[in-house]
Amino acid sequence: MSTPTTTPIRLAAFGGSPAVPRGLRTLPWPVVTDEDKAAVLSTLDGEPLVSNVDGESAVSRLERTWARRCGSRWCVGTSNGTTALSTALAALGIGAGDEVIVPALSFIASGLAPLHQMAVPVFADIDPVTFNLDPAAVRALIGPRTAAILPVHLHGHPADLDPLAGLAGAHGLAMVEDAAQAHGARYRGRPVGSLGDAGTFSLQVTKNLPTCGEGGLLVTGDEDVAKKARMARQFGEVIEAGRDRDYVSYQLGWNHKLSAVQAAFTLSQLSRFDEYEAARQANVRRFLDRLAPLPGLTVPTVAEGSTHAWHILRFRLDPEAAGLSGVAPGAFRRVLHRLLRAEGVPVSRYQLMPLPDQRVFRDRLGFGRGHPWSAADPDRADGDWPVTRQVIDDSLTLQKRHLNPAAGPALDRFADGFEKVWGRLDLVARMAAA
Ligand SMILES: *Cc1c(COP(=O)(O)O)cnc(C)c1O
Repeated sequence: MSTPTTTPIRLAAFGGSPAVPRGLRTLPWPVVTDEDKAAVLSTLDGEPLVSNVDGESAVSRLERTWARRCGSRWCVGTSNGTTALSTALAALGIGAGDEVIVPALSFIASGLAPLHQMAVPVFADIDPVTFNLDPAAVRALIGPRTAAILPVHLHGHPADLDPLAGLAGAHGLAMVEDAAQAHGARYRGRPVGSLGDAGTFSLQVTKNLPTCGEGGLLVTGDEDVAKKARMARQFGEVIEAGRDRDYVSYQLGWNHKLSAVQAAFTLSQLSRFDEYEAARQANVRRFLDRLAPLPGLTVPTVAEGSTHAWHILRFRLDPEAAGLSGVAPGAFRRVLHRLLRAEGVPVSRYQLMPLPDQRVFRDRLGFGRGHPWSAADPDRADGDWPVTRQVIDDSLTLQKRHLNPAAGPALDRFADGFEKVWGRLDLVARMAAA
């Protein structure tokens, strides 16, 4: 008999068997039930199919339900989360020559929506822990043309709204919350979206509250903003109960309406939202508790008083803390990305550059003849967004795979994959150095 020796862990990248079986790598999202299908089909049985009519429809029912959930007086359905944002800005009177302060780390739509209104985004650096707008960075950027602050509740974690609302109040700025990733998240006990002058949500199929395609919701406590938003989404018209449509445009308008089919699907999903959310909270908590002890891996945390909607999980990676001194964070991240993917852990990057590095902003593209940038302050000093750059360089994310309420067993296997790779930090160090 030979004496037992410990064989080193054989990583999947080098011929070992993957930690995550294939069937667990992509659980479906959204979860589509027979009730969802029936709800969509029922809209074809004589329901109003567009929201330009007065009266009851799946759109008005969704608006009422969502307003109540957010604790907001008004909700306006739109064609997607991007049009919800631009409609909110339009309703608040943000336009040509105005600057809107936007976080440097977000989805592109947060920066495009101001441009769609002929306003100009000004990018502020983020907090390294919550990945949201840093109020001190925002304060430093407020100038004579600043008209609004646009905090994003990135990945589902609420932005630090109290100091931002304080700045907005002191300088007479509007605050529009981009809650596209944060349905159900709470800041100091209150639903995000309901704390600014307006808040917007995306119902895009990958978001926490999905539709079967594209949709958006705008909430506000201000009746005038709600009225202008309704006009903006409907060619500038006023559609009123008991009054025939007059086809008059009372303001600049677009066609940004939400379809009844999309609304019916989301309403049906909404009846299971709390149940899914509770399962997600438990699944994610257990997953993060297993990963937290791994050296050099920082799991996402929740700020005191906040509730995280866990739309995306972002892990920061620190080679120094993993005992790999001399390894660059970017190299550490690249090697881990490759080894984890080989194990079947579907980590990916979310945003490859700060928003201000995107061509459309860097080259000041827009409507031609320099618009709308020509209306902006030419001497506006740009920052360099060092925290955003660092976070993008040294982190990996988990997207969508944890949203399904039955993701618990898959997340256990993902954690196995992380532990397996962390069992070979010697190899990681060699690969990162090469
Ligand atoms: C998805 C998203 C949007 C845009 O929503 P769409 O419905 O895709 O237009 C805006 N902001 C953020 C932060 C998002 O994640």
